[in-house]
Amino acid sequence: MFWNAKAKRYELPHAQRQALNPEMFVDHPCPVCGAMLERYAYTKDGQDKVMLRCSILDNRRSKCKEVAYFQSRGEFWSPKFGTLKLLEPQI
Ligand SMILES: [Zn+2]
Repeated sequence: MFWNAKAKRYELPHAQRQALNPEMFVDHPCPVCGAMLERYAYTKDGQDKVMLRCSILDNRRSKCKEVAYFQSRGEFWSPKFGTLKLLEPQI
């Protein structure tokens, strides 16, 4: 945490704040456990990418391991669960 004098409050470093951003949650349930999916930003081959994964950490390590939707032409696609169409605009 650090003190943001302008906002007069303590704030998390950028990376952590991003992790807590409610906008990262997707209004679509995990196909395995029913929890919300979350956006996960990563870099591959120097390109910024976004994937969707289960938002429950414990499940990600176990039963929801294969819940991974990759961004592809405005849609998200999973090798195991197929195409996911979101109603909201994509980033
Ligand atoms: Zn799940």
